[in-house]
Amino acid sequence: MAWGGLKRDHYPMATLRFADEARGLLASRPLANVLAVGLGRSYGTSNTLSGGALLDMTKLDRILSFDHAAGILRAEAGLSLNDALAVIVPCGWFLPTTPGTRFVTLGGAVANDVHGKNHHSAGTLGCHVRALGLLRSGGEMLELRPGDPLFAATIGGLGLTGLILWVEVALSAINGTNVSGERTAFHALDEFMALAAEAEKTFEHTVAWIDCASTGRAFGRGIFEAANWAQGPLGEVHAPAPALSVPVNAPSMTISHPTVRTFNALHFRVKKAKSGPFRQHYSGFFYPLDAIGKWNRLYGARGFHQYQCVIPEREGVAPVRDMLDAITRTGNASFLAVLKRFGARRSPGLLSFPMEGLTLALDFPNRGALTLELLGRLDDIVRAAGGRLYAAKDARMSRAMFESGYPDADAFARFVDPAFSSDFWQAVSR
Ligand SMILES: Cc1cc2nc3c(=O)[nH]c(=O)nc-3n(C[C@H](O)[C@H](O)[C@H](O)COP(=O)(O)OP(=O)(O)OC[C@H]3O[C@@H](n4cnc5c(N)ncnc54)[C@H](O)[C@@H]3O)c2cc1C
Repeated sequence: MAWGGLKRDHYPMATLRFADEARGLLASRPLANVLAVGLGRSYGTSNTLSGGALLDMTKLDRILSFDHAAGILRAEAGLSLNDALAVIVPCGWFLPTTPGTRFVTLGGAVANDVHGKNHHSAGTLGCHVRALGLLRSGGEMLELRPGDPLFAATIGGLGLTGLILWVEVALSAINGTNVSGERTAFHALDEFMALAAEAEKTFEHTVAWIDCASTGRAFGRGIFEAANWAQGPLGEVHAPAPALSVPVNAPSMTISHPTVRTFNALHFRVKKAKSGPFRQHYSGFFYPLDAIGKWNRLYGARGFHQYQCVIPEREGVAPVRDMLDAITRTGNASFLAVLKRFGARRSPGLLSFPMEGLTLALDFPNRGALTLELLGRLDDIVRAAGGRLYAAKDARMSRAMFESGYPDADAFARFVDPAFSSDFWQAVSR
């Protein structure tokens, strides 16, 4: 099941434990019938395949080599970032970039060419992949490197070009396990833009939480954080498992407009009071949601939609303002609303999501047609601005939206392995 919990289907699943079992597992597959999956942290339909079979990669999780001096890690694709960090951090290395959860696999992270709070300084994960091993369903075992067209299709290729068996990535040096930085409250989107532009000159990591339930004079307010790695002792890694976990699906009204509005107002006030310098362990800064296991159950049995878009730099902040306006006008509100400026570094993948501009990530409890109607309005704004949606977060992207956002979609389609498919790909491809 995908992280958004919109579909509760169970798919036949085979588990790959050793790389040399993979050829046999793929050999017998009919066309468009298989999809590799990692830890299931994509929200919608890019990691599901109705009528097909899923290949669980999470047991293929060995470290193949780790050059401590140069910071080069080669590992099987099912290794989680959680486990990778436990090994590399005590040696003074970190992932070159990381998504907002460490419970993803290396293969899944490559297949979505994930980005993090340092996109403006480091680009996507794919910018730091030196090589990867790809098994095609015809049995060819390929070692791909930057510059190879199939490498460009596989980075951010949504698992459709074959089975990623291993990944070699260049790590980033750290001198401690804390980050230190500045927290600032902003009261309007223009203020956010100015803060981000200034902070990007000196800070490696920047991100903002935006209160998208606020209206009137509070409209567009939020909390901006910028940080760099701090000097300090190495060795104190994150706790491997969440301290708390949500045991069952919460009642569907747990995350509703009034609760989000109240939470947001409180959150803004508390964080505003904590404005100024801060110092924090990397786990709290990069992975705040990982502190609560299965937090997606808070959205109840009907699940929720994540929505992440990017608006090109030339459009400025106006489309984001229009989106927030559409959300508040329709009485909706998002709990986890994140705003970030992507930098100019080009992503290597044909279907990589980031481009220079503003990215907004939102989540909405699934209220059926009402939610879909709002998301349709947001789509119109994104499309008119020449933006695109992130497939990792999506459960409903239309073909038109995909084609307008991803101009290399046709070039990508030529590299799709015929044995592989996903519900996402079946919805958007011709
Ligand atoms: C709390 C949270 C925060 C997040 N924050 C961010 C963020 O800041 N930035 C960001 O970019 N993303 C973010 N994400 C999304 C997440 O990083 C991606 O969805 C990631 O790809 C999930 O990896 P996974 O191992 O769970 O893979 P899955 O979700 O299981 O699969 C993802 C894709 O990878 C493919 N795949 C998996 N393994 C292989 C393999 N071995 N070979 C070929 N294809 C494979 C699958 O077919 C699928 O297309 C976040 C998700 C969550 C839940």
